[in-house]
Amino acid sequence: MNPYDFARIDWSRPPERRKPIWHDRLFGSDLPRLYSGSLTLRLTARTPIFIPARPVTSGPRDPRKPETFIKDGTGHYIIPGTSLKGLLRNLVETLGNGCLTLFDGNYEQEKTGERGRYKAPYRDKVKPEFLHCEDKAHLCISCRIFGSLKERKSGVFTGKVNISDAQADPETVALYKPMYTLPLVEPKPHHRAFYLDEQERCIAGRKFYFHHDPNKEPWQADGYRYFTRAEPANRYIHPLDYDTVFYARLDFTTLERDELGALLLAIVLEEDMCHKIGYAKPLGLGSIALEPLRLELIDYARRYSLSARGQGGREQLEGEALTQFIDELVEEFKRQHLQRLAMEDLRRIWRWPPDPDVEYCYPDKSWFDQAENARKRIAETRDAL
Ligand SMILES: [Zn+2]
Repeated sequence: MNPYDFARIDWSRPPERRKPIWHDRLFGSDLPRLYSGSLTLRLTARTPIFIPARPVTSGPRDPRKPETFIKDGTGHYIIPGTSLKGLLRNLVETLGNGCLTLFDGNYEQEKTGERGRYKAPYRDKVKPEFLHCEDKAHLCISCRIFGSLKERKSGVFTGKVNISDAQADPETVALYKPMYTLPLVEPKPHHRAFYLDEQERCIAGRKFYFHHDPNKEPWQADGYRYFTRAEPANRYIHPLDYDTVFYARLDFTTLERDELGALLLAIVLEEDMCHKIGYAKPLGLGSIALEPLRLELIDYARRYSLSARGQGGREQLEGEALTQFIDELVEEFKRQHLQRLAMEDLRRIWRWPPDPDVEYCYPDKSWFDQAENARKRIAETRDAL
């Protein structure tokens, strides 16, 4: 089975945009309750996981030594806060009907030297109202929570969420054995039967990678593989093993109720689902469970009012009380805003535990070369190897 599939977009429902409520108005009688505070998260690797310490392009390194997992200045292994933010943002976009941040329009520029020719010209395969928000006074839910990324004429909105690096608990750290990855040659956007919807009118959606059976080893090669260039086409890496535990802290300011609901949904998903992060996802790395451990809410309205008693407007939730609070907000969000088509697809792609009878790997070139396969959708690749 092809290792990724798409969470569909409901093209009949454009992102709902509005002006973000921002820091300079923390409370007021005309405003609904806003949520500020912090959430402690525990992340537990369910398969080996790898996030490289340095980018591939950062110059020569000793090819006999495996690339190492990223650490912070104090020597702890970390999942960078930026990676976690990217993961959650993408989920809010997908499930909460946000704009398309990662869509570039055209893919795979032809190497003819002629400018503006692409093998996958998909600019017209997205309805314009779904493109990245442009105006900071009209932002979709993901841009209101995480910020509008692009610098625009109207300025940039910096967002209301900040996520720390997730630091590994040294007691739990176990190294997986160093491994050579398989070269990651995946079907490219020009393969229309995968990347567009059945009528080829719109892009297929947002891409997610299936989880692999954690009882099987990730796909790997027995050494470096070379194609046409002098550098190897694969990498030699040293992942952390499953059961490594990380802790992160997520701070948020003046979130509206639906925004907090969307954020919590992105974190807890559903019971039989699991997140995926980091390098070599198509080979079976990076399945990771996210659990909220503790939530601290700061109610600024109560904090500054004369009637506030002792607590300074702070409230701590853990255990059953936290679960109840999260369930309430998530269920409310799902009733009002959930992008149901996307959830249906993501539930299948991120199902946990995964189906042990399916092998996930890219169909090889000979499969793509067969005429009868040219129009097959991803769902029809289950037995393709
Ligand atoms: Zn947006």
